[in-house]
Amino acid sequence: MQVYEKRLDIVRDVATFKREKQTIGFVPTMGALHQGHLALVQRALEENDIAIVSIFVNPTQFNNSEDLVKYPRTLDSDVKLLSSLSNKIIVFAPTPNEVYGSQMNSISYDFEGLEHEMEGKFRPGHFDGVGTVLKHLFSIVSPTKAYFGEKDFQQLQIVRKLVEIEKMSVQIIGCPIYREKSGLALSSRNKRLTQEQLDASPLIHKILQQVKKDFGTKSVSKLNDWVSEQFENTEILELEYFEIAKVSDLKTITKIDNDIKYRAFIAVFADKIRLIDNIALN
Ligand code: AMP
Repeated sequence: MQVYEKRLDIVRDVATFKREKQTIGFVPTMGALHQGHLALVQRALEENDIAIVSIFVNPTQFNNSEDLVKYPRTLDSDVKLLSSLSNKIIVFAPTPNEVYGSQMNSISYDFEGLEHEMEGKFRPGHFDGVGTVLKHLFSIVSPTKAYFGEKDFQQLQIVRKLVEIEKMSVQIIGCPIYREKSGLALSSRNKRLTQEQLDASPLIHKILQQVKKDFGTKSVSKLNDWVSEQFENTEILELEYFEIAKVSDLKTITKIDNDIKYRAFIAVFADKIRLIDNIALN
């Protein structure tokens, strides 16, 4: 399997693939790969001639320096995992300098308000960092399609907006959330959880499932209160936010309208490890 570190090397080979009219499926990741990532890669392999996976812990999207330092970096085992899936995968694992050049700055984006909701409120600058790195990576990889998990649903909507703003021709594909049997959404950060935290974390998905059941029969404010109460009974998990929002603009709602699609979104701390999840409600 080919692993590229240099921007110019992959740009040169991508140009060859394009001349040969090969389609490129792209899966951007920050590494520490798990089955959730692999499901995206599998789909990229099925739908394209070539699959490119980037492994890059992007500094500009971290608003918390400890989170950036502690983010797991496991390139060797990531490459092994990908080669066990297929030898047709190409890995792009650049240094920050290869992506950004000498100036590691974020572009300041207007994602029409999507960036101010939920994660945006708690992680200032995060989506500017995400948008900027993807603009760079898309221009390097020139993908036909790019694959993103619904696990980061707000990110997925913002990437769709980014492509519109930057007038890029890539097609954005959203993929379902991959979960442990316990219901816990797979995340690279799960590797940092203690056994006690791991045992407590399935509560997050259980709560979302109950909200889905009760959605439409209980009011939004009752559901919000109920979710907050569930976290009063556990010391291991601390609720950062819970919101029911419209899929289209991610704005929080107070009442339900039949023709509109909604999702519930949650962020929880297990000590300093931040876990997010969401669920479609209708
Ligand atoms: P990350 O490496 O965490 O930046 O994630 C890279 C991509 O994998 C993003 O599009 C994520 O939404 C997606 N992803 C991460 N975890 C999951 C999961 N449990 N199920 C589906 N997609 C995921």
